[in-house]
Amino acid sequence: MSAEKTPIPLGSNFIRAIVEKDLEQGVYKSRQWAGSPGDAAHHAAGQPDPAKIRTRFPPEPNGYLHIGHAKSIFLNFGLARDYGGVCHLRFDDTNPEKESQEYVDSISDTVKWLGFDWQTPAGSHMFFASDYFDFMYRAAESLIEHGHAYVDSQTAEEMRASRGTLTEAGKNSPWRDRTVTENLNLFREMRAGKHADGSLVLRAKIDMTSANINLRDPAVYRIKRSHHHNTGDTWCIYPMYTFAHPIEDALEQITHSICTLEFEDQRPFYDWILARLAEAGLLADPLPKQYEFARLNLTYVMLSKRKLIELVENKHVNGWDDPRLPTIAGTRRRGYIAEGFKLFTDRIGVSKADSWIEYTILEDCMREVLNEASERRIAVLDPIKLVIDNYAENQTEDCFAPNHPLKPELGKRVVPLTKTLWIEREDFMEVPSKGYFRLTPEGMVRLRYGYVVKCTGCEKDAEGNVTVVHCEYLPDTKSGTPGSDSVKVKGNIHWVSVAHACAAEVRLYDRLFKVAHPGAGDTDYLNDINPESVKVISVQLEPSLKDAKPEDKFQFERHGYFVADSHDSHSGRPVFNRTVTLRDAWQK
Ligand code: ATP
Ligand code: MG
Repeated sequence: MSAEKTPIPLGSNFIRAIVEKDLEQGVYKSRQWAGSPGDAAHHAAGQPDPAKIRTRFPPEPNGYLHIGHAKSIFLNFGLARDYGGVCHLRFDDTNPEKESQEYVDSISDTVKWLGFDWQTPAGSHMFFASDYFDFMYRAAESLIEHGHAYVDSQTAEEMRASRGTLTEAGKNSPWRDRTVTENLNLFREMRAGKHADGSLVLRAKIDMTSANINLRDPAVYRIKRSHHHNTGDTWCIYPMYTFAHPIEDALEQITHSICTLEFEDQRPFYDWILARLAEAGLLADPLPKQYEFARLNLTYVMLSKRKLIELVENKHVNGWDDPRLPTIAGTRRRGYIAEGFKLFTDRIGVSKADSWIEYTILEDCMREVLNEASERRIAVLDPIKLVIDNYAENQTEDCFAPNHPLKPELGKRVVPLTKTLWIEREDFMEVPSKGYFRLTPEGMVRLRYGYVVKCTGCEKDAEGNVTVVHCEYLPDTKSGTPGSDSVKVKGNIHWVSVAHACAAEVRLYDRLFKVAHPGAGDTDYLNDINPESVKVISVQLEPSLKDAKPEDKFQFERHGYFVADSHDSHSGRPVFNRTVTLRDAWQK
């Protein structure tokens, strides 16, 4: 690791301020790192830690990551990157149920896709909390040995009743004064499978009258005969999350353990556990510290794994990467890009107070980065024919369209012009409304990148729908030729040659929920699902789009940003998803 001073970027927040102060004061200077997670003895045999700070992103592998997790990833991996540290990707898999390899894989993919890596020159920093089960068990025995934990035989019901309330102190369990030997024996029997699930619980012995309910002898181990995806059937007792998490942080020498606000009341227990285990010589000083920030709440989406699981399992959407879901896999398939998430997280900042962020802010960020990143193409989404009656039947002429108006270095591509073109249905109006500057029976427009044409009439079907528009072109007006603008027109329409066009499917996505706060006021959020969240249409694309590869992204002029679908798009037969519309509807 280089010893150079890392430049600190702008866009500071209260967590960055804490990190900067800690670095300035050398709070973590004495830390040792043995190259892998471990207890005090393990790290004492190591080296001074080359990482100035250690953070972690600790997802439970029980679902796909969503936009809220992206905020946490940018925060944790971003701190490590900016302050000469390392961020661990830790799978918090201490809960035997609901966890699987599929989720581990998708979470790892997502972290990489967002631009981060747990692999550094010093090795891999992907860890699994279940690898610490042996230590956690040892930590629990240590608590018992020092009189800080006891085995409770109360039923779950009795425990609930004796916990007290916000205004009322709890009552001590009748089993609270078991001797150390009795507790150790019972705990070992729990581990050995001698007791039924739920019949005994190991509890920390703190204070049943504490004003903080989380300190009223919280459970630390429970009996649960359950197969674990990593440890199989080795264990029939599992640690509680609030006991496991601080230990995971300490074994990994995390300096700044950043979590969401709902864990604020758990911080005293976090500190209590670590202090007891450090006193016993099991954990290395200085200990990790927990800091809380406000979780991301976004309008029009649900950022809760439980609800996302429900939407997927009950088939309200088509899988975890359905482009309407706020999963990273879904938004990626929708055409969102990592740079957009970065801009978004920078823009919304990190705060200590819960609030709602408007979904349009995320969309604006995506537009901004996609505007930069996307080449322009022409697509006619609602095609009708335009015939240039005075144009030769078999003639094809090259017109040149810039690939990116802001980046002339990306050059131009050829769009072939012929006698019969596809144009947008809305670009012709038989009886024009005021201020309509596109094609009208007497009007003139420019075919973008081509000629000025003058309308001569239209054909209609039995229902009176326009099927073909007729026009004549003005030969001296071709874009890019001298004198081409001698004829002034107010409108400019896009088109695709019928003979060259590529027919394709386009999926126009809208919000999955029709209200900003689905399920607000304890209503069923499923009632708020937007029944028209996707519309599938048949379109005509310019020929260069024929060979679009999955995940290729473009701006379709006037229509918005589109991405070739990662499952269903094939060379010669592309399928595009609309990522987001353009900021302003086409006004001319
Ligand atoms: P959910 O409530 O959706 O199930 P979770 O918190 O249970 O999410 P974890 O896998 O435990 O999911 O989350 C991993 C990390 O991501 C945690 O550190 C958590 O604080 C953070 N995180 C989860 N949701 C959000 C959010 N909406 N905003 C910011 N960070 C989040
Ligand atoms: Mg969680």
